[in-house]
Amino acid sequence: MKEFVEVAVGLPVFKTFHYRIPEKMIAALQTGMRVLVPFKGRKVTGFSIDLVEKPPKGVEEKLREVEDLLDEAPLIDPQMLRFCRWISDYYLYPLGEVIKAGLPPGLQLKSELILSLTQDGMESLRRGGLDPVQEKVFKEIARCGKASLRKTLRHFLGEVSRPQVFSWKRRGLLNIEAGVEGKEVKPKFEKVVQYQGDEPTQPISKKQAEILNWLKEKGNISYSELSKRFKSPSKSIQSLQAQGLLSLSRREVCRDLSVRSELKPYPKPELTPDQKAVLDEILKGIRSKRFSPFLIHGVTGSGKTEVYLRAIEEVLVKGQEAIVLVPEISLTPQLLSRFKDRFGENLALLHSGLGRGERYDQWRRVWRGEVKIAMGARSAIFAPFKNVGIIIVDEEHDPSYKQEEKLKYHARDAAVVRAKQAEATLLLGSATPSLESFYNTEKGKFRLLNLPERIEGKPLPMIEVVDVKKEESLLSEKLRVALQKNIEDKKQSLLFLNRRGFANFILCPECGHTFKCPNCSVTLTYHLRDRSLQCHYCDYRIQAPGDCPKCQGHRLQGMGIGTERLEQEIKVLFPETQVGRMDRDTTSRRRSHLKILKGLESGSIDILVGTQMIVKGHDFPNVTFVGVVSADTSLHFPDFRSSERTFQLLTQVAGRAGRGEFLGEVVIQTFNPDHYSILRAKDHDYIGFYREEIQFRKALEYPPFSRFINFRLAGNSEKRTKGTAEEMGRIGQSLLKKEYGKGIELLGPSTAPFAKIRGKFRWQMMAKGKSHHLLHQFAKGLASRMEGEVKGTGVNLDIDVDPIFVL
Ligand code: ADP
Ligand code: ZN
Repeated sequence: MKEFVEVAVGLPVFKTFHYRIPEKMIAALQTGMRVLVPFKGRKVTGFSIDLVEKPPKGVEEKLREVEDLLDEAPLIDPQMLRFCRWISDYYLYPLGEVIKAGLPPGLQLKSELILSLTQDGMESLRRGGLDPVQEKVFKEIARCGKASLRKTLRHFLGEVSRPQVFSWKRRGLLNIEAGVEGKEVKPKFEKVVQYQGDEPTQPISKKQAEILNWLKEKGNISYSELSKRFKSPSKSIQSLQAQGLLSLSRREVCRDLSVRSELKPYPKPELTPDQKAVLDEILKGIRSKRFSPFLIHGVTGSGKTEVYLRAIEEVLVKGQEAIVLVPEISLTPQLLSRFKDRFGENLALLHSGLGRGERYDQWRRVWRGEVKIAMGARSAIFAPFKNVGIIIVDEEHDPSYKQEEKLKYHARDAAVVRAKQAEATLLLGSATPSLESFYNTEKGKFRLLNLPERIEGKPLPMIEVVDVKKEESLLSEKLRVALQKNIEDKKQSLLFLNRRGFANFILCPECGHTFKCPNCSVTLTYHLRDRSLQCHYCDYRIQAPGDCPKCQGHRLQGMGIGTERLEQEIKVLFPETQVGRMDRDTTSRRRSHLKILKGLESGSIDILVGTQMIVKGHDFPNVTFVGVVSADTSLHFPDFRSSERTFQLLTQVAGRAGRGEFLGEVVIQTFNPDHYSILRAKDHDYIGFYREEIQFRKALEYPPFSRFINFRLAGNSEKRTKGTAEEMGRIGQSLLKKEYGKGIELLGPSTAPFAKIRGKFRWQMMAKGKSHHLLHQFAKGLASRMEGEVKGTGVNLDIDVDPIFVL
């Protein structure tokens, strides 16, 4: 008899805990269900991850009981649990939190204490004569039947204390029970009226007869639809039900998705010979039913999407399921629309842009096996399928696959692991593969598949590079002329500038004053629309002053331009054209990005100015010119991947030009015209870029030739954060000396590239090593030693494992 359960709680605790299963739950409790368990004086939600006959030695006596069972069926199956265990171990993140991260947010319950009145309590309320405060509180509880203790205390702050409430319990007036907060998203049901197939045996009213006739025709119908047609039908329905002529039942409905395919339909084309060759290889992989990892290196517009679609068709024929990861689904409505056109309702969409209810419903459709395809941003890698045949990662190089907070996983790397565990086919696709992935093809870990040409032999655009050191204005002569010509040709243009706002910062030329964020070590960006100075890291904002606050000078100047200013200048230069802008400021409202893309599709926008949002895989045939106003923003980022990132951005944004019948043209402005990222992008030479970059990585022993784990400390007190960092350095060094020797190198501790963000001071230390195994052991050792160090200091340790492949 398995009378004990191992539980991973949904809290930042690494250990798992054992509980005794009460007899009434033994039959029902399965691995993968949520349970409510007592934990450090609280009730918390946890996941049952194993059922055992005997708990670990020595703890049996002390074991407490599972309080409640929260699910009727397991939320995660053994395969998913195995996947979560890998993630937890690899990214050094508590298992319970990993499992939680993979579930839709509506399920992430916090349990709390719930108050309700006892019989006695209700009596006393009715009788009156309670003291006024007590009466108020009791009335409030009685009004809703029950209330959370936390909310009640907050509601009556200053009037009622926690001990008071507990004293009422002792007097038998109140029940206080552990329960779950009422916010949980629940499946949505509707009432259904069903015709039973019998004719009435006794006379019925005219209205009843009409309803019955209508039902006869329809078979069954939702109650809400029925009441649209017949006014207040409840009486008639009741009587028909009583006669057994119809029945009422409930069925689960799916909340309407607010994201749909709304762009042009996408017919199924004949494959090109290249596509066919690539697909044939993939089909072999799918049919082998073994782990088959591929990297498709296909230039922009080479028809990768069609290959994905065909591969999925094959997987569906095999009765298996498909997961499709895309960088930011809300930015790629075209891709979604192609999938919808091909697979219709067989597709669930999992991403954070959906409402909570919608997200929950989409997740449930996957969980219940109602759909075979799940598409979404990085968290879709947790789609609860049981028999995955293929995992596709589109634009696999995209940095948004890395989650930068909490569970810092890389969805592409997780995809590799999940595909491997499921013995599925893995398809990574990109025009600019990450160095790691391409290196893996050279090592024979992934198979490389090439789509070297655009569909129908369309040429890649002509790219020219302009050295802005020699230019006087924001737009070089060359860019202006090309843009002008494109406008005259009645074509559309994209202008890329990876910085939003109006001016990058404001400077007083008289005293040199600049405006800094009080919470972050960055300057504030000037936004013209509301004349504000904003921090792009913490959303701090103030009204922009007219004069310098330091020297009262009158000549404050905006330095460095952003998309808002670019848009304005373009409007002045080309007053006859329609100019649109796409950046975080213009797309903060739901669906606003879709509106902009539609404007581009319908031709109501001639020139679209934007940040990297316009780089994503859009396909607009009438866009023939792309201007890169500054290629340098990403080049100067303090990260060893900045060259790679620059090459990717330039190639991708250039790839938006000339996808229709007309040749595309691109102008790139830069201060670094001789940099290899820019030169190779200009020549559409991925392989050339790869060769140079990989040499540089090798020389410096950067990934993929080594691995990094970053230990980040953040705290409100500068002194304490620094002190903790120094202590971390000492502990790290002593661990190296004692256990890890030469296999690991420590860089730092030092202040992070942004020394302060959102009011927190930041320090970091990097561990670099060739063996991921060794690095992980070191990281675990350091983390456990640091636990005591940071306790009570307000300093937080965050561990970030750099993306790598662990095949
Ligand atoms: P990628 O994803 O590689 O950038 P897309 O999948 O967007 O390329 O394809 C580029 C364009 O070519 C799209 O407009 C698509 O409809 C079209 N296309 C793809 N495959 C074919 C084909 N076999 N025949 C004709 N057109 C195709
Ligand atoms: Zn800030």
